[in-house]
Amino acid sequence: MTKRIQLYNTLTRSSEFLDFQRSGIGVYCCGPTVYNFAHVGNFRTFTVVDLLYRVLRCGGYEPKFVRNITDIDDKTISGAQKSGETLLVHTERWTKIFHDDCRAMNLAVPTIEPRAAAHIDEQIALIVKLLERGAAYVRNGSVYFRVAACKDYGKLSRVGERELLVGDGNDPEKEAAGDFVLWKAWKESDGAVAYASPWGKGRPGWHIECSAMALKYLGTNFAIHAGGIDLCFPHHENEIAQTEMATGESLAKLWFHVAHLRIGGEKMSKSLGNLYTLNDIRTMGYDPPTLRYALLSGHYRQPLNFSTESLRSARSALGRLGQHGARLRNICAQLPPPAEKFTIFEAVWDALLDDLHVPKALGLLFTHLQNVAEKNFTATEAREELAEWLRFEEVFGFPMVQKENYSADIPEEILCIAEERKKARNAKDFTRADVLRKELLDRGWQVKDNADSYDLTAV
Ligand code: AMP
Ligand code: ZN
Repeated sequence: MTKRIQLYNTLTRSSEFLDFQRSGIGVYCCGPTVYNFAHVGNFRTFTVVDLLYRVLRCGGYEPKFVRNITDIDDKTISGAQKSGETLLVHTERWTKIFHDDCRAMNLAVPTIEPRAAAHIDEQIALIVKLLERGAAYVRNGSVYFRVAACKDYGKLSRVGERELLVGDGNDPEKEAAGDFVLWKAWKESDGAVAYASPWGKGRPGWHIECSAMALKYLGTNFAIHAGGIDLCFPHHENEIAQTEMATGESLAKLWFHVAHLRIGGEKMSKSLGNLYTLNDIRTMGYDPPTLRYALLSGHYRQPLNFSTESLRSARSALGRLGQHGARLRNICAQLPPPAEKFTIFEAVWDALLDDLHVPKALGLLFTHLQNVAEKNFTATEAREELAEWLRFEEVFGFPMVQKENYSADIPEEILCIAEERKKARNAKDFTRADVLRKELLDRGWQVKDNADSYDLTAV
């Protein structure tokens, strides 16, 4: 695949071809604040960015993907205090839960996943530079960014003076309402969370962490900076301002923003309390691959409404794709893997390379399903088409070939474990097969082997 990908850039308000060396192309995504379960709105952003990463990888790029963990924040600090844990223990516990959910959602593991608390020195060094350049000032142990020093502040979000006058709270220490905090002086409610700095003990503000970690791992002028659309202002605007004032260079070339997942017309968010977690989705009887399909099925720049109906149609769509894959697999079961060849699916690729147009890509796949419903595939044709099907499985990250023994009633995760166990048995690794049998049993499923496959029954 030598075609280039085209993406919408919030900074220029236009679609642009990625004009980068394919190897080591830098992608940064603002990660979760770890004090509670991530909700499926958060997962819309993380899943779309995962799709972007997969399309880049399958399109011949070699992305270096950095997604941070926000572990110093009012919410993580008060969460740790309420649960009687240190900040580290608390945030590591929630990070692990986030990782479990990411695995279930089949999100690729980032190349690097830095956390703010492990990068205090880098954040302090960046603040020192901003002070040296007159772009920041110290007040009572806190440090603020001076927006007036940054001539083109607002270029990403096109934020007007009115919004700047409102600012992020009325801190009397600030020179101007739009200024924002880089370093927060310690206060009693921070408890044991106190880092030493040239301005006394305290902790970094939220915006500086992403600039410091992105610069450390990707340098300036990297390819893509991603996040949910709510981060465009002030978070990303401030990341740009800090970085440009400190380094004289731009942070990222392309700013990629994912529209919100909504529920009943409103943004799904922790503060509104209208959220669903992955566990809620399971309790409703849907598995993570179904959620993944539902989250990817709309165009990422359009808000997406979350409903039981959207999960139901995702399950049915996945079923149709998977049945076709299984049919192909059964026809060509005995043939060796095919040589690479592109057929009608080039159009699907083109849709994905055109600003990740998933609805168009899926539309083409379903039209194809209709066209071949009556077709008698030869084994060679089936083999070639299955190769394409599996390629899309890699890109979309949801199953395109129904597993053996598939039943809408058996969760995808259970089937994955059963398939892994089958592989272990075939490789005569009976110890591993037994471990997986026990895992299935612990999750309420009994596996019985037969001549060349297995049966699963709920216990
Ligand atoms: P947080 O854990 O709140 O820092 O958010 C993690 C990511 O989820 C950020 O990129 C947010 O922009 C994104 N996000 C939060 N709510 C939603 C939503 N309802 N739809 C899509 N993305 C969201
Ligand atoms: Zn960020």
